[in-house]
Amino acid sequence: MSIQNEYLQNLMATVEKRNPNDKQFLITVRSVLESIEPVVEAHPEYVKMGVLEMFVEPERVIKFRVPWVDDKGEVHVNRGYRVQSNSAIGPYKGGLRLHPSVTEDTVKFLAFEQTLKNSLTGLPIGGGKGGSDFDPKGKSDMEVMRFCQSFMSELYRHIGPDCDVPAGDIGVGAREIGYLYGEYKRLTGQYCGVLTGKGLTYGGSLARKEATGYGLCYFTEEMLNCAGKSFKGQTVVVSGSGNVAMYACEKATQLGAKVVAMSDSNGYVYDPNGIDLDAVKLIKEVRRGRIREYVADHPAAEYHEGCSGIWTIKCDIALPCATQNEINLESARALIANGCFCVSEGANMPSTMEAIDAFIEAGLLFGPAKAANAGGVATSALEMSQNSMRYSWTFEEVDAKLKQIMVGIYHNVADAASTYGFANNFEKGANIAGFLKVAEAMLAQGVC
Ligand code: NDP
Repeated sequence: MSIQNEYLQNLMATVEKRNPNDKQFLITVRSVLESIEPVVEAHPEYVKMGVLEMFVEPERVIKFRVPWVDDKGEVHVNRGYRVQSNSAIGPYKGGLRLHPSVTEDTVKFLAFEQTLKNSLTGLPIGGGKGGSDFDPKGKSDMEVMRFCQSFMSELYRHIGPDCDVPAGDIGVGAREIGYLYGEYKRLTGQYCGVLTGKGLTYGGSLARKEATGYGLCYFTEEMLNCAGKSFKGQTVVVSGSGNVAMYACEKATQLGAKVVAMSDSNGYVYDPNGIDLDAVKLIKEVRRGRIREYVADHPAAEYHEGCSGIWTIKCDIALPCATQNEINLESARALIANGCFCVSEGANMPSTMEAIDAFIEAGLLFGPAKAANAGGVATSALEMSQNSMRYSWTFEEVDAKLKQIMVGIYHNVADAASTYGFANNFEKGANIAGFLKVAEAMLAQGVC
């Protein structure tokens, strides 16, 4: 499908001209503009007030040098980014990603998506994203600390608890958030909720660690229930073995499913008896090892090199929780051919556009990332609330709020899809529901 509306076609042409090298950003913007065509036609005031033109242009793109010294005394220079995409409904909010693949394009597309995702949570948070092409893999704790301190020595002037609140993402977990927070505090002398995903001893929220994976399962369970199904008794494949994947595996299992496969960037394990999550946590969280180590203590399990093979495993439900573009058209076809009836995205943009079209055409239940994985950022917003109140909720309180938010997101997305003529297309429903709230706020605030 392509953009039919002439005004949106011209807008897309401008975005392409302005961002010629930002491939993923262009794909994302095009997909969102396609989804919101009927919304734009129903709201001429958005066009008149330039809401769309402002929406596709990040408010600010910050790019900076990050010099740091390794354990041998050698100097390295990485590049840091923070894209502040949209603050119409609240302070910019979105993770920091440390991975060699990070470019301005990556951060820009993620920040754009984040605006819609954050809007879907119903909480007052705008969209941002940041990161660097630094690779924490294989670095010592001291090297990671020196990098984080250098990164924050520039970032601190652009963020704040009421302005921009970063969090973790790929390569940024509890260790990195701790180093970043320490440096922010040293530079500003302020003890405030400027980052989320903090440790429980210094302002973190209970259930934040579990939130994205648990939230994914709450969203998916509601989507399944509304189609007369559930996780109970289903065979599930989860890609990745990081934060999102581990807690998706945990909650899916608690809801009665059997998770039979998990992966990392080298390969995947298939365990027909069901994944032993404690073993995965030991390998990944404690030993910082590789998923292949799993088979040493699990004789029934198999290890396969390469990541895409995981989608050829027969399953009822697939939860991609590793990285972007991990399911291409070929993998999507393999899932469909093997009888998979539900794909729900824990990672950001794990399915290519062709894969998504294939899922929707084949009538699968498809939970798009910006809705299905919004539990992480929603709980980050709950962490911000607790920091502002100087108070902590219990695990059960946060988990209950998370569940309520995810169920609410599902219905908001499903209703928007039906209202605008795309019943059961939750990809379009998520874009429409997310956009409507941001657009109304932008309209109210005028040209700014
Ligand atoms: P982690 O860094 O904790 O884990 C990422 C996992 O994906 C690791 O197991 C990693 O393996 C694996 N991986 C990386 N690249 C590939 C690849 N090319 N093929 C297969 N596996 C790969 O990150 P998170 O779990 O935090 O994030 C995962 C995804 O979820 C990302 O897309 C992130 O943006 C998204 N997300 C995360 C949220 C959060 O709260 N953490 C919130 C919302 C979205 P290896 O160990 O080999 O690198």
